[in-house]
Amino acid sequence: MKDMKMAMIVLVTGGSGLVGRAVEEYVKNNKLNDETWYFTNSKEANLTDLEATKRLFLKYKPTHVLHLAAKVGGLFYNLHQPVDFYRENTLINDNVLLCAHESNVVKVVSCLSTCIFPNEITYPIDESMVHNGLPHTSNIGYAMAKRNLDILNQCYGRQYDRCFTSVIPTNVYGPHDNFNLEESHVIPGLIHKCYLAKRDQTPFVVSGTGSPLRQFIFSSDLAALMVWAIRSYDDRNPLILSVDESAEVSIKYVAETIASALKFTGPIVFDRSKSDGQYKKTASNAKMRSLSPSLATFNFTSFEDGITHTVGWFIQEFSSCRC
Ligand code: NDP
Repeated sequence: MKDMKMAMIVLVTGGSGLVGRAVEEYVKNNKLNDETWYFTNSKEANLTDLEATKRLFLKYKPTHVLHLAAKVGGLFYNLHQPVDFYRENTLINDNVLLCAHESNVVKVVSCLSTCIFPNEITYPIDESMVHNGLPHTSNIGYAMAKRNLDILNQCYGRQYDRCFTSVIPTNVYGPHDNFNLEESHVIPGLIHKCYLAKRDQTPFVVSGTGSPLRQFIFSSDLAALMVWAIRSYDDRNPLILSVDESAEVSIKYVAETIASALKFTGPIVFDRSKSDGQYKKTASNAKMRSLSPSLATFNFTSFEDGITHTVGWFIQEFSSCRC
């Protein structure tokens, strides 16, 4: 992977979350000599507060910002709080980009998500389709705040020639995720449910039909790609960071893989009264694969290995993790 010439001071917002902790782990082993990395969270600075955000930028004086901080959650959490998802994420993004601009940050890489793409779309999804139609209603607040982040990036580029850009990960999973049953994404939620079903000798109940399809990226793979992006991705247009289309799996397969990793042998029951969300959001990683030889051959962790690792971490950290 290409090295940057200038010394970099990288501020990572959202540094205590699923993705932030994976980036921190990756950087521990792969930091270049002329790089300094700082990881921040909401306890140090609430980024919905402009003054707190300004103080954070004054403290670290970053040359680069990897902007991960967001109000994040699964389907059911999004369904219940669309206003909060829209407002909090909009405030955070506006404050971070304004402070980055006012303190002359060379590059900001922010994080969008594949769930922001239009509901009515052709597959595979690519980067050109972000604004082509309304997103699925289930996460419209979160999705529109994220889309507006791309608009703001383009505006800073046009008016001030800033290199503020974004990456679009597919569904992420791994250690340090939020396993809270009310708030979690599908994988941490199912791991927690299956763990309880095994402990209490009850059926493992999966919300929905099990038929929707998803691409999942293991957090340490995403971390490696994000570090590449902050060093080397200079295009203002978004970049999808995803496993290959052939790695797409059904929710039923996800549940079975989790059950197998947890050695759960009881019944798996699909609760068809619950929403499935969008049927699929198959995304193309062709742009990413085309950007360098190391990205063309980037080897993703297999889904089964990633789940085994995540389940092992969850069992070990059950008493202290976010659940
Ligand atoms: P987590 O929920 O695990 O972490 C969120 C991070 O944001 C935490 O560090 C949290 O700090 C911080 N944060 C939240 N609110 C604020 C605030 N008001 N001020 C300052 N910091 C705040 O999220 P992920 O790691 O999963 O997500 C990282 C990024 O990746 C997000 O932008 C998300 O939208 C994106 N993404 C995630 C996907 C996924 O499947 N998880 C898929 C696609 C994109 P604290 O710990 O102090 O609360």
